[in-house]
Amino acid sequence: MTLAAETLDRLKAALGPDGWSDDPTRIAPKLVEWRGRWRGETPLLLLPRTAQEVALAVRICAETGAAVTPQGGGTGLVGGQIPQGEVLFSTERLRAIREVAPEDDVVVVEAGVTLAEVQAAAAAADRFFPLSLASEGTATIGGLLSTNAGGTAVLRYGTMRDLALGLEAVLPNGELWSGLSRLRKNVSGYDLKQLLIGAEGTLGLITAATLKLFPVLRSRAVAFAGLRSPDDALRLLARAKVEGAVEAFELMGRASLGLVLKNIPGARDPLAEAHPWYVLIETATAAPGEAGPALERILAAGLETDLLQDAVLAKSEAEARELWALRENHSAAQKPEGEGWKHDISVPLSRMAEFIQRGTVLALQLAPGAKVTAFGHVGDGNVHFDVLQPPGKGAAHAAAREEGSRALHDLAHELGGSLSAEHGLGVLKSTEALRYKSEAEVAAHRAIRAALDPRRIMNPRVLF
Ligand SMILES: Cc1cc2nc3c(=O)[nH]c(=O)nc-3n(C[C@H](O)[C@H](O)[C@H](O)COP(=O)(O)OP(=O)(O)OC[C@H]3O[C@@H](n4cnc5c(N)ncnc54)[C@H](O)[C@@H]3O)c2cc1C
Repeated sequence: MTLAAETLDRLKAALGPDGWSDDPTRIAPKLVEWRGRWRGETPLLLLPRTAQEVALAVRICAETGAAVTPQGGGTGLVGGQIPQGEVLFSTERLRAIREVAPEDDVVVVEAGVTLAEVQAAAAAADRFFPLSLASEGTATIGGLLSTNAGGTAVLRYGTMRDLALGLEAVLPNGELWSGLSRLRKNVSGYDLKQLLIGAEGTLGLITAATLKLFPVLRSRAVAFAGLRSPDDALRLLARAKVEGAVEAFELMGRASLGLVLKNIPGARDPLAEAHPWYVLIETATAAPGEAGPALERILAAGLETDLLQDAVLAKSEAEARELWALRENHSAAQKPEGEGWKHDISVPLSRMAEFIQRGTVLALQLAPGAKVTAFGHVGDGNVHFDVLQPPGKGAAHAAAREEGSRALHDLAHELGGSLSAEHGLGVLKSTEALRYKSEAEVAAHRAIRAALDPRRIMNPRVLF
């Protein structure tokens, strides 16, 4: 895709001398996905400082038909943030925390603020922002909203869709929509913000959001436990929910934990013996001193009913962090293992154990000798199910990825699940997702997109 020099000149003039760059060295880090899976190109990086500047530049793109790729922290896992010739809109200078309003239990932040910064701003106002994920130091609010990110606290607080009360966004025609509502109830027509959330940058560029805040949790407890099967983990989850304090319930297979112990410096097994499966459970309560007893009751019930084989409870913040690191490093621990077929599956909780069991058999039929790893937010019915290359067979494994992933996605679909629980479709899965959508749904998607973006300038390679 070649953009007319005249269009590029108009964009440069609109944002002024420090509002853009075409310096290859400045642009280079934004063209590479963090795992090196996608490499992109762009004639121009735009660095708007305000929503009004975003609007000015998108209007020029709409008039000239120049395609746009929005980018936040670049931590997306499906390639949607990497341009292939489009104008790259970075939100790195949309960095203001506009308001923290404890009286409304909201924070109003610009799109380029990171999740960790929102969490810190909430804490400084004696409030809590619950979304949490391993990339929180880099992932931005705009990217998190655009992918409807989940993470480890969805069980209790929901995804970004549940945490946003209002949005400000530039629509594909360049109009700035100020929808920074802080209402919790507002039934007054289509909910435009919900259309933009999860749209992966195809219906507009989010410039700011109003997010919900919650009471600070004064008591937290974390445990790591070994068990025999995913089925036992789900039974324990059902028991744990009775306590009402479960904040996170994460499952890990031994194969996946084994890679963390092997490849992440300083990681150590907290249990005396190896177990086929593990769960990390966190409880948290607003009232001081209650999370520990709640977690102890869950563990005791698990041990009494033989659902758990062994468990360790963190005795300090440092120990809790160490246990969490064992969960959060699964993706990083896979990196040195070469090629992998990676999946972000969701299925109804009742079908999770079946998916893992049948998926493992299927994966080993398709890739004999592969290492099958499963980990993830099992409390939400979400498992990252990965099939890592057999030793010495990287090229063949990469070549078979499409077929292998399709078979596993078909299985998820058969069990009532989805090929994308929380990462989005991006350029990786947009075409494949069409296999699982009804004609009516795809037609409605396309009609909405065409109405808002008739020239298809916003992230044109993403979605349908
Ligand atoms: C180690 C690691 C762990 C992760 N764990 C989780 C997890 O547990 N749960 C989870 O859900 N995700 C997880 N992710 C995925 C990732 O962090 C999320 O997808 C995140 O939401 C992306 O935010 P970002 O700012 O990096 O967005 P980017 O990667 O820059 O962009 C992602 C998508 O959003 C679009 N976009 C970005 N900003 C805007 C904007 N302002 N307006 C419109 N569109 C925009 C882009 O075009 C792209 O399509 C993980 C990633 C890593 C690297």
